[in-house]
Amino acid sequence: MRSLRDTSVAERVLLVGVGWKRAPRIPGVPAGEPGRESLAELEELARSAGAEIAGSVFQMRDAPDPATLVGRGKLEEVRIEAQMRHAPLIIFDRNLSPVQQRNIEQVTECRVIDRTQLILDIFARHARSREGQLQIELAQLNYMAPRITGRGTEMSRLGGRSGGSSSAGGRIGVRGPGEQKLETDRRRIRDRVGKIQKGIEAIRKQRFLRRQSRQAVPLGTVALVGYTNAGKSTLFNALSRADVLVSPKMFATLDPTVRAIRLPSNRRVLLSDTVGFIRDLPKPLLTAFRATLEEVQEAALILNVSDVSNPQQTELDAEVEKILKDLGVEATPRLRVLNKIDRLSQEQLAAFAAPKKAHRDPSMDSAQYRKDAVFVSALTGAGLDELLVRLDQAMPLDPVERLSFSVPLSDGRTLALVHALGRVLHSEVQDSHMNFEAEIPLSVARNLKLKP
Ligand code: GDP
Ligand code: MG
Repeated sequence: MRSLRDTSVAERVLLVGVGWKRAPRIPGVPAGEPGRESLAELEELARSAGAEIAGSVFQMRDAPDPATLVGRGKLEEVRIEAQMRHAPLIIFDRNLSPVQQRNIEQVTECRVIDRTQLILDIFARHARSREGQLQIELAQLNYMAPRITGRGTEMSRLGGRSGGSSSAGGRIGVRGPGEQKLETDRRRIRDRVGKIQKGIEAIRKQRFLRRQSRQAVPLGTVALVGYTNAGKSTLFNALSRADVLVSPKMFATLDPTVRAIRLPSNRRVLLSDTVGFIRDLPKPLLTAFRATLEEVQEAALILNVSDVSNPQQTELDAEVEKILKDLGVEATPRLRVLNKIDRLSQEQLAAFAAPKKAHRDPSMDSAQYRKDAVFVSALTGAGLDELLVRLDQAMPLDPVERLSFSVPLSDGRTLALVHALGRVLHSEVQDSHMNFEAEIPLSVARNLKLKP
């Protein structure tokens, strides 16, 4: 299905942002500022999707142009910029209607995607569970359906119509030589959507049964959560680099966003880098976003990362709290990490941590907030030792058992996890299995269903 429309953004891109002149003014905030901030966030999002930023263009407008979002003159500038900077892909920071997208593609002769499509691409990279992958594919298909024709709204209605006829909107001149293929594409999309919905339903039922039968001891995973750009991935890399024993090779069979780290007490835990929260997440993407957060629901501990140098940190933190609450993970132990302290001066940092000055958000118990938080710089490494100590204290205790068990050699994931999280005392290959004698945390043994 991906071939219907290439959504890969791992290339040079030009970004286009828009600010509204008549947007409600926030005192002290210059007009257009929200749009510029949003564009800065788009840049981070594009980077995390593997794009190389060739440049960006910003326009202040009274209202969106129905045909091209930005004005004609601006669009010409966009075309030239993209050409000069050798960017084959343009990402708009606003959602584009199918018509706008097509018009802009025609003028600029570049591939054009919008914010939603970029976000979906990022989700697709992070989705680990089968349900997550299906949810995201569903969102992608729903988004794509009206766009494969590029013929406007009559088509978008058609995309959502069940059953469907061979009529493609019925307007004269709409049916071209490619129309039959489009009809086939649309049918394929409808079929796939139906299959996905059934698949999700089946997984849900299974999971319900599994949850009931399994003891509620999660695999010892620490999930990093926080807004995009808080520094989660940087922290993930900084923390996992330290554990040289568990080589990346061993984890080649695992997800690239999961690594083992060693805590001061010598036990190992898995660290999982999640997709960041995104401001103004488009509504249709909420379900897909949640699906990427499944690992947070399974986590033994949540590492909540914020950027202290971000002036809007308080609001973002409140948003994160809300989402975590929605996920029903209030009972999961939580550790707050305030990152990027290298960006603050000594005075600013002292003011931040001082018990006298109340934290900017009165709704958060400020004293508790600061007492519990760990101040770090993922970039310079400051505070990371302290963070590991605190992690060790906060992680629920997990009794270790000495077990004998056998794992099929074809099960690379389990083999890697046994080595990463257990202490292997003895191992030998027998037929197509590896026999182990190992000390393993109870939760890991249960989760991996290790058999003698
Ligand atoms: P994520 O979206 O939460 O995964 O954030 P990233 O780890 O991708 O970091 C976003 C940006 O912040 C990158 O440009 C990082 O280099 C930068 N960054 C991350 N941690 C720090 C830090 O401790 N100090 C400074 N100054 N920059 C940081
Ligand atoms: Mg990241």
